[in-house]
Amino acid sequence: MEPKTFYIRTYGCQMNELDTEVMAGILAKRGLAQTEEENKADLLIFNTCSIRDLAERKVMGKLGQLGRQTKRKRIIGVTGCMANAKKESLFQKLPHVDFVLGTNNIHDLDTVLDEVLHTGEQRVRTDEDFYEELDYVAAKRQDPYKAYVSIIRGCDKYCTYCVVPYTRGKEVSRVQKSILEEVKDLVQKGYREITLLGQNVNSYGKDQPQWGALFHDLLYELDKIEGLTRVRFLTSHPVDITRNLMEAIRDLPSLCEHVHFPLQAGSSRVLRKMHRIYTKEEYFEKIALLREIVPNVALGTDMIVGFPTETEEEFCETYEAMCEIRYDNAFLYTYSPRKGTPAKRWADDVPEEVKNDRHQRLLALHTQISVEKMQEKIGEKVEVLVERRNKDARYLKGLTRCWRNVIFVGDDSLIGTIQTVKLHGHSHHTFLGNLL
Ligand code: SF4
Repeated sequence: MEPKTFYIRTYGCQMNELDTEVMAGILAKRGLAQTEEENKADLLIFNTCSIRDLAERKVMGKLGQLGRQTKRKRIIGVTGCMANAKKESLFQKLPHVDFVLGTNNIHDLDTVLDEVLHTGEQRVRTDEDFYEELDYVAAKRQDPYKAYVSIIRGCDKYCTYCVVPYTRGKEVSRVQKSILEEVKDLVQKGYREITLLGQNVNSYGKDQPQWGALFHDLLYELDKIEGLTRVRFLTSHPVDITRNLMEAIRDLPSLCEHVHFPLQAGSSRVLRKMHRIYTKEEYFEKIALLREIVPNVALGTDMIVGFPTETEEEFCETYEAMCEIRYDNAFLYTYSPRKGTPAKRWADDVPEEVKNDRHQRLLALHTQISVEKMQEKIGEKVEVLVERRNKDARYLKGLTRCWRNVIFVGDDSLIGTIQTVKLHGHSHHTFLGNLL
């Protein structure tokens, strides 16, 4: 029987969030209503992540639990990176799952659903590479003012700890015309900020040399769109952060002064073992150049501690990099081996307690730096995109160009607009301000 309602739970990264919005759009076109209550849905989709072991265990636990429920029969689908990694083997552990749809097969959702309904049999589609243009315009967006826009899928970098090149395939850039049309449509619908998404956005266009357009060229085209206030991008590889990109950040009014610049490790030996294809010195040179060209840039990073063979001295190089660069945001992880990656073949030889200790030390350092950096900004006037009323309803909540939350007293009519706010304090990671 054709399902009437659907529920999607999303795990993992922003690309998964966007894929969820696209799937919700496909199902809405089919006439299904979305529900936030899992128990009320006829169709359940779990859009999964394979980056961390914990993320996989969480979703496997959830799916196993659903199999033990003896209530009415519902259609259950598994999508996302875990679908690509496990393919039909998922059916052995989870025989109640009806379909498995990889990250490169989102466009097949309608067809696969038809096949499951008509045959009553399980279905699996997990193509290695992404080719099919998705209907992003029909995507059911979760946020009324900020939208994710996919510009490139897959990754060719092959960092030794990462499953992405194996789950999402090689880099495939999206045609510029299609990106510009989608962004124009979003602006017309009232969106103020877009985040360009890809596993490695700044590789954009390299797989299509005949286009003669790289990432910074796309940014210049986007900046011409009238009404587009803000552009961000996630995530970057340091090797592909070019002088042209830095100058675009300096010169384009729409482009936010915030760059996620993932270091991963402070030791060149560990970076080589990670296959990050840059040395510590090259990374530091690029940071210096970026700060010279865009002095007010805010920087984010990812760091992994406890990578196989990492010594205490090498960890200290990561710690010192944090001290020296003083990132505004940092995502700090302890290493965990992922099946199918080169690093999985090496001994995971840094004991868990050592990994946890290094993680705690780095986290404490970053927390201190983050507080100091926030205090330095007190008194500044910042541009804020007003998003909604805060949990504490006395305040409105918004986002700065440098990716910081700000709360301030104001009227609901300001929601969805850009305002200037003077910062007068902060609580944890949120600024407090006065509307000017
Ligand atoms: S650049 Fe490295 S860490 Fe990032 S998605 Fe590609 S392989 Fe993974």
